[in-house]
Amino acid sequence: MPVPLKHVESSADLPATADVVIIGAGIVGAFAAYYLARRGMKVVLLEKGRVGAEQSSRNWGWCRQQNRDARELPMATKSLELWERFAADSGEETGFRRCGLLYLSNDDEELATWARWRDFARTVGVTTQVLSASEATERAAFTGKPWKGGVFSPTDGTADPASAAPAVARAFMKLGGTLIQECAARGVELEGGRIAAVVTEKGTIRTKVAVLSAGAWASSFCRQLGIRFPQATVRQTSAAVSAGTGILPDALHTTAISLTRRIDGGHTLAISGRGRVDPTPQFLRFSPQFLPMFLRRWRKLAPGGLEGFRCGHETLARWRLDAPTPMERVRILDPKVDESAVRLMHARAVALIPALKERAITAKWAGYIDSTPDGVPGIGEVTGFPGFILAAGFSGHGFGIGPGAGHLIADLVTGAESFVDPRPLHPDRFGHSAWGRVAEF
Ligand SMILES: Cc1cc2nc3c(=O)[nH]c(=O)nc-3n(C[C@H](O)[C@H](O)[C@H](O)COP(=O)(O)OP(=O)(O)OC[C@H]3O[C@@H](n4cnc5c(N)ncnc54)[C@H](O)[C@@H]3O)c2cc1C
Repeated sequence: MPVPLKHVESSADLPATADVVIIGAGIVGAFAAYYLARRGMKVVLLEKGRVGAEQSSRNWGWCRQQNRDARELPMATKSLELWERFAADSGEETGFRRCGLLYLSNDDEELATWARWRDFARTVGVTTQVLSASEATERAAFTGKPWKGGVFSPTDGTADPASAAPAVARAFMKLGGTLIQECAARGVELEGGRIAAVVTEKGTIRTKVAVLSAGAWASSFCRQLGIRFPQATVRQTSAAVSAGTGILPDALHTTAISLTRRIDGGHTLAISGRGRVDPTPQFLRFSPQFLPMFLRRWRKLAPGGLEGFRCGHETLARWRLDAPTPMERVRILDPKVDESAVRLMHARAVALIPALKERAITAKWAGYIDSTPDGVPGIGEVTGFPGFILAAGFSGHGFGIGPGAGHLIADLVTGAESFVDPRPLHPDRFGHSAWGRVAEF
């Protein structure tokens, strides 16, 4: 029962030259490629496995401003507009809808946090509705239970993780872009200290700009160049249930269980924040920097196993450019499902909404969420490496803000003025401690 994902055909040949080479075709790399191609650039999008096959198809599909950190909120707002515009501009379908997101709680502290966020959001023109007990209970009639309160964010929405990155890659190819799948970038060549080429398993592409949107693999790739990018991953499990009768919400968060309507009418089940930490050499290397994040989130994390070693994405090994690398051995990061989590989420879903009992589990999967020490992505040209742009560490938020991130990358590459101040996102900040700067959600 693997994670559902649409297929895209690759282009025929690897070009010898490009204006920009993008390494990694998740949602971020695909949108960056698309916006660069729209500006007339010759772009090659490289993917070691299949478009969208890692985090970008394994997520819930939430595209939200709700509860976003101030550093990310402008990008989240812009992304919602871009999700909408993408379908009209490209004729491709990502399943995006502004269906609104519903949050319910019986916890006073959680409700107070949401109310504080509402007050902050107002200052930047974002509307969210804090629900009283009677409003929450009325909206949550499908649970048949009373609620102390909640939040409804009417302008947020969801897109379909199985369709989105493939749709964007197809739109990119319609603009003349080149997509090569099953083709890992092994490294880069520098000339005079700046990017001169990207070396892949199928040949070398001369270019002056390389974008590293490699998700969970970004840090080990950076290490080959002597770049220190602190990154850690948490393994999260989700499951999908079939469509059925009864009125269920499009997107619901409660502490016990979250659910999201899928494009086939079924729902994705997940427990927010719950995950397993699989120790790896890279995890040990960066763990001091992740202490502030860990202290904030540890309640929902459990120790994992040797899965991180098996997958190899957090290796500290150095590799050669003329021999197969760990990325070729693991075309798709497909970590082990936490079966106890599946049982728990199904039991909690049925306890919340008894009608779900009739729905069969149609798929279950796990994914590694890549995070930075402060829970905000690193996007920007790496200091000391002209032409090398890092875009990774999306910390569980990258699907929704994928369009904005891609747009920002295109702005950075072309030198255009951006819709967002890129400085708070620059990777240079990872040289400093994350104490006091960890995103709240
Ligand atoms: C269970 C779960 C739930 C989530 N829920 C949400 C949500 O509701 N909303 C939200 O906004 N976000 C969510 N996220 C987070 C979101 O999925 C990620 O932040 C986002 O998909 C990251 O996109 P990306 O393009 O950076 O990385 P990825 O999608 O991981 O893509 C990176 C790609 O790079 C490729 N690659 C790596 N190295 C190389 C190389 N050397 N050469 C070629 N290719 C390479 C990989 O194969 C991969 O396909 C969730 C994540 C998970 C796992």
